[in-house]
Amino acid sequence: MEKLVSLCKRRGFIFQSSEIYGGAGSVWDYGPLGVELKRNLKDRWWHAMVRARDDIEGLDAAILMHPRVWEASGHVAGFTDPMVDCRVCKARFRADKLDDAQCPRKPSRKPGEHSDCDLTEPRLFNLMFKTTIGPVEDSASIAYLRPETAQGIYVNFLNIQQASRQKIPFGIAQIGKAFRNEITPGNFIFRTREFEQMEMQFFVDPAADHMQWFEFWKGERLAWHRSLGLAEDRLQFHQHSEKELAHYARAAFDIEFDFGGSLGFQEIEGVHHRGDYDLSRHQEYSGKRLEYVDQVANRRYLPFVIETSVGADRTTLAVLVNGYREEVVPGEQEGRVVLGIDPRIAPVKAGIFPLVKKDGMPEFAEKLARELRVRFPVFYDESGAIGRRYRRQDEVGTPFCLTVDGQTMQDGTVTVRDRDTLAQERVAADRVSDYLRLRLS
Ligand code: ATP
Repeated sequence: MEKLVSLCKRRGFIFQSSEIYGGAGSVWDYGPLGVELKRNLKDRWWHAMVRARDDIEGLDAAILMHPRVWEASGHVAGFTDPMVDCRVCKARFRADKLDDAQCPRKPSRKPGEHSDCDLTEPRLFNLMFKTTIGPVEDSASIAYLRPETAQGIYVNFLNIQQASRQKIPFGIAQIGKAFRNEITPGNFIFRTREFEQMEMQFFVDPAADHMQWFEFWKGERLAWHRSLGLAEDRLQFHQHSEKELAHYARAAFDIEFDFGGSLGFQEIEGVHHRGDYDLSRHQEYSGKRLEYVDQVANRRYLPFVIETSVGADRTTLAVLVNGYREEVVPGEQEGRVVLGIDPRIAPVKAGIFPLVKKDGMPEFAEKLARELRVRFPVFYDESGAIGRRYRRQDEVGTPFCLTVDGQTMQDGTVTVRDRDTLAQERVAADRVSDYLRLRLS
């Protein structure tokens, strides 16, 4: 993880927020390459969940909502974690995760295990960030930064159903920021206080075979993570036991990714069967009927909800961890660091280099870069030895490098080098765009 954090900073994937002020607690900024990588993940999700399906509609709801939303959802009363403080070192821990924590003064021990640790009794701590709306700070103007995007979907359920004329079963999807005042954030972008979620709520008839939809979405979502190139043996389901299940949930599975090291397998996505809990609560608290009207069967009912909820940042971390490798290059003393991310989500698709800065090569290469840039994110680089330029692209996951050399000036072909196999082949410069399109499809 340390190597990855340092690579992410050095190469402009991810920086600590407000770093020049010493950093803000567990929030991160995505730099030029990071924003492309995360955007590619979000685009793939949006495509798979919204554009490629006719039974899911998109939404972009506001972060600030009516405060009653969070009473209805149960977050005001129950979105809490138990917290303990150490009176000696002032550190704070999740009482239910003490086994995973370290005593700051004796990192080989758990909190409470060092001779003079002095832990308080657990207290419940609400994870929602509170703010106020309007110029007067009173209890009537309290607002919360949403701790999940799902509630924006529930409160818009009928708006969207009626506007789009969707029939059950159908879903609503959105991508957006969520905020949680986590007690123990950490592990880089794994657990942060501001993050992005990609959530989809699928509304089904409670009288139909709703468990079949639950199984369907479990399968679809696992397949999506595999399609990002996450290794099969690093992905698994974890079924919530009776004890872990939220009181309203009928079934819940996490999709876990093996982050390695001390983290091991951790949740990256939750697939939850929420019954009609959310819609019935909003119906009760708002006083507005939220039932779906099935005109053919002449029935009104509150649908059941199957939710898929995945973190964009946590998935970005999974992709980075999955792709990072250090390897020996035959015939070379210096090894190389490679971000072996799937070419379709790589931030830069091709590096374009003139072999030397003379004989018309830079002009040819710059022209090629200009032409390709219309269709792909490419990077032109003429500085340093060619080997170093290759290494710089390997390290940020660029799948192809195109080199303009002496032969190019004679026959118009360029060398295309593959990041993973290191194989090189010659491709006519005017065919490179089609070549890339094919290799990236
Ligand atoms: P955890 O048990 O790790 O706190 P959770 O069960 O509370 O997670 P959900 O509420 O199911 O998580 O949120 C769905 C997804 O949102 C998670 O699988 C994760 O990818 C992402 N997520 C949740 N909290 C955070 C966070 N603090 N930082 C980054 N991503 C998060």
